[in-house]
Amino acid sequence: MLSMTEASARHVPPRQPARSRRIVVIGGGFTGAALARRLALSEADLQITVFEPRARLGAGLAYDTRDPALRLNVAAARMRAFPEDPLAFERFLQRTGRLATDGPAEAGGAIYARRSDFGDFMHDALAPLIASGRIVHHREAVTGVARQGSGYRILGDKGTALSADLLVIATSHPLPCCPQAAMALADDPRVIANPFETDHLNRIGREDPVLVLGAGLTAVDLLASLRERGHVGLVTLLSRSGALPQPHADRQLTTTIAAPAQAASLREWLKTVRSAVERAEAEGLPWQSVFDALRQQSQAIWQGLPLSERKRFLRHLRRRFEARRYRMPPQIAALLDSDMAAGRVRSIAGRVTAAEATRDGLLLTLRQGSGTARIETPWLAIATGPDHCGIIAQHAYLRQMADQGLIRADGLGLGLACNGASRAIGADGAPVETLFIAGPLARATFGELSGVPEIAAQVDAIARTLLAEQPLHGADRAQPVLS
Ligand SMILES: Cc1cc2nc3c(=O)[nH]c(=O)nc-3n(C[C@H](O)[C@H](O)[C@H](O)COP(=O)(O)OP(=O)(O)OC[C@H]3O[C@@H](n4cnc5c(N)ncnc54)[C@H](O)[C@@H]3O)c2cc1C
Repeated sequence: MLSMTEASARHVPPRQPARSRRIVVIGGGFTGAALARRLALSEADLQITVFEPRARLGAGLAYDTRDPALRLNVAAARMRAFPEDPLAFERFLQRTGRLATDGPAEAGGAIYARRSDFGDFMHDALAPLIASGRIVHHREAVTGVARQGSGYRILGDKGTALSADLLVIATSHPLPCCPQAAMALADDPRVIANPFETDHLNRIGREDPVLVLGAGLTAVDLLASLRERGHVGLVTLLSRSGALPQPHADRQLTTTIAAPAQAASLREWLKTVRSAVERAEAEGLPWQSVFDALRQQSQAIWQGLPLSERKRFLRHLRRRFEARRYRMPPQIAALLDSDMAAGRVRSIAGRVTAAEATRDGLLLTLRQGSGTARIETPWLAIATGPDHCGIIAQHAYLRQMADQGLIRADGLGLGLACNGASRAIGADGAPVETLFIAGPLARATFGELSGVPEIAAQVDAIARTLLAEQPLHGADRAQPVLS
């Protein structure tokens, strides 16, 4: 008996010393940076790496801009990036004296700061953690991810290859996609395909007419950027409904909204919201206060709806809801109003059915009701919003992960499938223990997950999960196989 015990003991591999867990975040926009910061501020023994091709962490598509015309869509007080310190952004604005040099920031009884200010704020929060080495920023785009034991091998486009125990996907917003009917123009130099890099607008002549595909917040931002550059030409906003974004109320008033008895029915919610708006208006409150109240519980509402009702929402109500939920800052609302009144901006309803390049410009055929119309323009800007539906197709690394069965699209066209703990759902329908989806790509599971406070809350929950993981031991380290 004794000798058997000794024999088996000889076969027990020596215990490996515990080493720090390696967490890699792909994408260092607001989501990836907020997560890296949250992890870095813990005392856990972690190696935190962020792959992000932009120079600075925390800005991403929305806040990596120097264009002073681009403003936050919500008041600074609502940009609660860090749940444990909700006033951090407002304090940053005061501390750095930015408001003193930004005359138009105060409007409608609140501060609507420049988007670049928020990018700077995030950079300011991350910089010491990068300088100390607590967060490592590889300025590279990830091109490949391969499974390696229970972890991953990640490859960057400048040759960095490293292993991770836990991986987080946070490459949220792809560029808008050119409508199929206008694909013939996709490579034409007179098409502004990336509305977020406003330097492209410098090519447009001061008086040139511009046709913008889309009439949402991206489209009105584009208008503001054009005017900032001294552009005075006609801007035509083309969308299916012809509806324009809504402004904020001139007073920040709050109300509440009680869930209907049948909270799993979209129809009941619609009735509830309509009567809440009527009641609010009868009490002298703006309709916006109802949508702000709805935002407080929009994740619970979404998660209470069965899949069929979520699909109905996306098909029939999404555009109308989003036009009221995501509103213009007062500065851009005022610009739009005055340009509409002066005839420098018009909004038309129609759907592009064909497009061709001519010698003098770009010719688009539109379906308008039962008729058709043609419109010729020297410049076309695509401002239809990020194309989340095509997220896997847009990234080689996501295609590779999908091929390995690690991720799959969510089936609603919003991003990637994950469970309530933000773990990716693989091709077999099971959650992948060591892989997380952070930020707007997880909206199909959570519902509202676009604004900074909602992302910050999800990031906090992911960090808690990651920090609760048991330390790994340096055993299963197979070498990478990446094509
Ligand atoms: C124009 C705009 C304005 C907004 N304004 C507001 C606002 O005023 N208030 C508010 O609360 N919310 C606003 N939002 C919403 C919200 O803040 C954003 O959705 C949020 O910033 C999302 O950040 P993200 O990091 O998830 O995504 P992204 O900003 O898309 O960042 C993803 C990052 O991933 C990087 N990346 C891409 N591919 C790779 C790769 N292969 N490898 C490594 N990195 C990669 C990109 O460079 C990018 O920096 C706005 C959103 C947009 C688009």
